[in-house]
Order: sequence, then structure tokens, then C-alpha cells
Amino acid sequence: MVAGELLSQPVTALKGVGGKVAERLIKIGVQQVQDLLFHLPLRYQDRTRLMPFGALRPQQEVLVEGTIQLSQVKFGRRRSLLCHVSDGTGSLILRFFHFSKAQQEQLAKGRRIRCFGEVRNGPSSLEMVHPEYQLLAADGIVPVDNELTPIYPTTEGLHQLSLRKLMKQALALLDKEAMPELLTPAARLHDAAEYSLVEALKYVHQPPPDAAVDQLLERQHPAQKRLAYEELLAQQLTMKKLRAQTQHHTAPMLKGDKAYRQQLLQALPFPLTKAQQRVIDDILQDIAQPHPMQRLVQGDVGSGKTVVAALAAVEAVAAGCQAVMMAPTELLAEQHFRTFSNWLSPLGIQVGWCAGKQTASERKQVLEQLQSGEIKVVVGTHALFQDEVTFNNLGLVIIDEQHRFGVHQRLALRDKGRDIDSMPHQLVMTATPIPRTLAMTAYADLNVSVIDELPPGRTPVTTVVLPDTRRDDVIARVHAACQQQRQVYWVCTLIEESEHLQCQAAEDTATALQDSLPDLRIGLVHGRMKPTDKERVMTAFKLGELDMLVATTVIEVGVDVPNASLMVIENAERLGLSQLHQLRGRVGRGQIESHCVLMYHPPLSENGQARLKCLRESNDGFVIAQRDLEIRGPGEVLGTRQTGLPQFRVADLIEDQDLLAVMDRAARVLLQEAPKLADALVLRWFAHKLDFGHV
Ligand code: ADP
Ligand code: MG
Repeated sequence: MVAGELLSQPVTALKGVGGKVAERLIKIGVQQVQDLLFHLPLRYQDRTRLMPFGALRPQQEVLVEGTIQLSQVKFGRRRSLLCHVSDGTGSLILRFFHFSKAQQEQLAKGRRIRCFGEVRNGPSSLEMVHPEYQLLAADGIVPVDNELTPIYPTTEGLHQLSLRKLMKQALALLDKEAMPELLTPAARLHDAAEYSLVEALKYVHQPPPDAAVDQLLERQHPAQKRLAYEELLAQQLTMKKLRAQTQHHTAPMLKGDKAYRQQLLQALPFPLTKAQQRVIDDILQDIAQPHPMQRLVQGDVGSGKTVVAALAAVEAVAAGCQAVMMAPTELLAEQHFRTFSNWLSPLGIQVGWCAGKQTASERKQVLEQLQSGEIKVVVGTHALFQDEVTFNNLGLVIIDEQHRFGVHQRLALRDKGRDIDSMPHQLVMTATPIPRTLAMTAYADLNVSVIDELPPGRTPVTTVVLPDTRRDDVIARVHAACQQQRQVYWVCTLIEESEHLQCQAAEDTATALQDSLPDLRIGLVHGRMKPTDKERVMTAFKLGELDMLVATTVIEVGVDVPNASLMVIENAERLGLSQLHQLRGRVGRGQIESHCVLMYHPPLSENGQARLKCLRESNDGFVIAQRDLEIRGPGEVLGTRQTGLPQFRVADLIEDQDLLAVMDRAARVLLQEAPKLADALVLRWFAHKLDFGHV
């Protein structure tokens, strides 16, 4: 067998791996032998030297050796076996709560014993509770380990010891031939140049006794950086390939009669901001090309993305194609449907609606009209993904609040309008400002336009942070605002896991608030209400027939009521910063000065204080997103599982931000110099989930 093939065998090729073990290994992402090598230790134990008892300190994990002086069973609150051990420099007690008769006999006075465990302060002296131990012969030298002991992330039923044995087998197969270097010198990161891939892998799995353990634990060791770099590069290459593949397809050239666009612009009650104008120009230029546009529009809450989407849709229709706009929640989709209908109907463009909670006959009709091409623009939720939805001539796919959807869903919708080699244009929009480095990784297959300006006349929202012990003051404030003809949102955050309980909590809150504020007109919306009921309440709020809207976080995205000037968010400490910023974006949409009260349940952790402070001090979505990223990590911010942002094995998007900065260039260099190596690199790191390959 050729060297490289040894590593690409299934793990069952290794000694000791049967069906059961293989199943468990899959749970930790290991299918091929080489996947083991990419499964890196979480931390290390030092069994390379014996620590004298006299030098022990609590909390250390150490290897010690001594002679048992006394062994006795104590009957206290819990029966335990205590072995007093000493080595001439000091002593230590080994404590066992569970022990067999045989064990008790083995651990007898006079035996030499070697133990590994954590030292703790016991009632009378230093102790180790249930150490790993080994009884030694009375004389002779037993060698210690030559390398630090790696501790791997594992899963139930898969022991460290078994995992370590498998690693040993895999590492024995690892050499330059089995795992060749794929980076050309120019595509390499200079700092990491001293490690080849093979050296780096060997180092992190079997660090020498003098390794800089602290550096390893902080993931800052050059060997780790070398691996992270290669993985990030592989990911960047994947996205670049995806993008290149898409560019091979043709797309309908969407350039229609300008009259449509102008008619819509004239009907709008406002002129576009410069930023909106610029972004629309980007889009119009892209969709006029014979290749599919792949563009992400980022714009903070309230920057006016909807009208940009509508103008793009109008252009598609003017060019004789259909457009689809998808939103992540029914509430938001409904609102877009209404906005689009208002704007497009006067132009004679029929707008359709497609969502999950729709009657069978309504659905049948919309599906027929989509297929026949009678409906030119359709707005809806992920119900649009379903197989039964087919288009007559889909030219443009618009996805709002992209962070709520995954790469897969984005591509699935695009594939709807695809025939042999033609594909619709794609516009994705997000209000979650994504820090640049992260955007490069998650959306490297997209071009990015930013709406970096809010429409004029907005007053910034003033944010205050209060404990919920001051709820009465907050209620008084709500009352005062409503007396001045202002409207209020009261957001109940989701303490409960189930949607049912969340809605229940919102209902209870609405009832309690109504009791305290009998003269106010209070409405309620939550995710479990019928769409028609929700719409009725939302419309009433929009028309000013309700003073206050009590809601769950369903109103997080997109809802637009300019007269609402006060928002109260309960249990604000439980939400992510970006989510709070989104919610807060529901106010401050008009001329009146707006306020947001973040109520928390004391005591607030230090971290919690820092987070809410950040929100109080900044209204800038990008600043907040960057902080959020640092505090919570990219998976939480972007929702890893949904975005299809890969779960990296080695790399960490926070720790390795420095590496991200050079990725784009490195990927281009490698693609240009050695496209075959680039292919091999992608396979090496992402063969186990070639999500992106099927496009
Ligand atoms: P978002 O970017 O959060 O989706 P929307 O598209 O919902 O923002 O727009 C927010 C509000 O701003 C809406 O009421 C919209 O009509 C209004 N708006 C959009 N563009 C402008 C503009 N150029 N001038 C004034 N108001 C605008
Ligand atoms: Mg929006």
C-alpha cells in the first residue's frame, strides 16, 4: 500500500477498532485514520517526572512515588480507605471511597506505589482522591514517560486510554510520504515555517517534556498555529472554489425598462440615502451580467435594506424574470409581503405569499401562479424551500437576515431556479454586522456591500440599564410615555426552553401589565399565535390603536413602527449583544427621542455588567458585534450550526484572527501556483464534510 493510503483508510483498519468503537469515533468526527491525527488534545498531563512529596502544592496534577506507611479503613460520614504514603521528603494521603477487598489488601503497608492525580487539601494533610496508581516492585527503576500525556476531547464509552492507543498507531504511520507538505513556500506563513505539517502534528500529540505547556494550553504554540493556518487556508480555498464554480454558470441578464425602477423611486416618501444608492448600483451592475451575482448586503438595523431589495426585485421583473424574497420569521415575511405589495402593486406587479401556516387552497393557488409565471415576486418563509415550489423563470433570489439561514439553505433556494447551466442571481442581506475577519471566512463566496449610513432624521436611542427590583419605576415610565402619545414595546425574553412556555410567560406578563396599567391599550404577539391574529395586533399597533405591544423576541428582526419610542427588555442579561442591538433597533425610527430600558435580574455577573455596559455606550452595530464575538465566540454570533460555518478542528476564529488576515492572499497564491495542491488541501481537511462540493 502507498504511504498516503494508509492514512486514508477507515479507522477500522487499526488494531482494536471494531464496529462499536468506530461508531463512537464518528461522534468525535473521526472516520479515517488521518482524522485521528487532526483530533487534537485539549490539554496535557505531565507524567515525565516524579514530584517529591515535599514540593507538592494543592491543585497540581502530578506524578509521585513513595512507600505506603499505613493503610486503614475509616468509618466517617463516608467509609473510605486511607493510605499514608511517604518518600522521605514529605507525605501524602491517598483516599478511596470505592474499593474492593482485593484492592485493600494490595495497598498494604510497605508497598511501593506510583500515583498520578490532583493534589488537594484534605482535613489533616495533602491528599489525592482516587488517583491512578501502579504498584511497583520493591526495588529497580521504572521509567517515566518521555512525552507529555495528551488529554483528548472524547465521547461516552471511548476512554482516554483507548483513544491514546489509537493515536499511537496513527502517529506511527505518520511521515512525510504519508502526509506530504501541500503548502508552497509562498503560501506558507512565515512564523510557522520552522514546523512542517508532520512535525507540527507530532509535536501537539506528543510534546517533549520541556515543551512550553502554557503556550500550548493557550493555543499559541507555533506548532498549533501551523495547523490552524493550514485548516483556515483549506476553508478559504473551499469557499473560493465554491465561488469559482458558481461563476462558471450563466445567469439571466437582468436589465429592464428603467421606467419601472423610476416609478417606484418616485412613489417612495423619501429619497434614497447615498449609501443605499451606492449599494443598489452595485447590485444593478452585478445582475446585468451573464453570471450569477453573489452579493451580501450588510446594513445596521434601520439602514433601509428593504427598499434596496425591492428595487432589485423590480429590475428582475422589468427584465422578464421572477424574484423571490425569503425572510426567517413569519412575522417579518408578512411585513415584507405588505411592504412589497404596497410598493409593487401600483406598478402592476403581482406579489405572492408563501408560508407554512397557509391553507391548502391558498397554497395550491400560489404554487400554480408561481409555476405559470403569473406571480412575478413572491415573499415568504423557508416554506419556499419545499420541493413542490417551482418557478417559471426565477432570476433573483433575495434572502433577508441571512444569519438565520445556513449556506445550504441559501444554495438550496438558488437551485430552485437552476436549469442545466443557468442559475439565478443571489442577494443576501443581514443586519448582524459581521466583523470583517469573520465575514471573510463565513461569506468568502460572496461580494459584500455595506449600507453604512442611516436615513436622516433618526435620533439615537438612549439606553439605560436597571435591575428588575425597579420594575415599578419602569412601569411608571411606560405610563408617562403613553400619555405623551408615544408607543412602547415590552419584550419578554425567553427564559424557558420551550416555545410554549415562552408564549405563556409573555401572556402572563401582558396580563400583569394590564392590571398595573388599566388605562393603557395593550396588545400581545408571540410565535404561537395564528398569523391572522398576529397581523391584526401588529396592524393595530402600527396604526396607533395600541399603546403598548408585549412581545417575545419574535419582533427581533425587521418590525417597523416609527412612533414607538420606548422599549423595555426583560432579563436582558440572557440575550446576546447583537440580539439586543437588533431588538433595540425597533425604536429610534422616528423623529422623537427614544429610550431602551435593559432590565436585568440581579445579581449581575461581571461579564454581564460588561456586556450591558457595552450596549449602553454604543449604538454602533459593528462595535457591538465585535464585542459580542469576543465574549461569546463566532458560533454563537453567527449560529454555527445554521450558518454552515465549519466547525474547525484546530482553528479558532477568535484566537486565530491574526491568521485570517493573511488568508485571502495565501489562498490566491496557492490556487495560482499549485491548483492540484489546493485541491488536495481541501480534501485533507474537509473531506469528512464536503458540504460545499456539490454545488
Ligand atoms: P432594515 O435595514 O433594518 O431592514 P428597513 O428597510 O426596515 O430597515 O427600513 C427602516 C425604515 O426606514 C423604514 O420605515 C423605511 O421605510 C425607512 N427608510 C428606508 N430608507 C429610507 C430613506 N432613504 N430615508 C428615510 N427613510 C427610509
Ligand atoms: Mg430588514
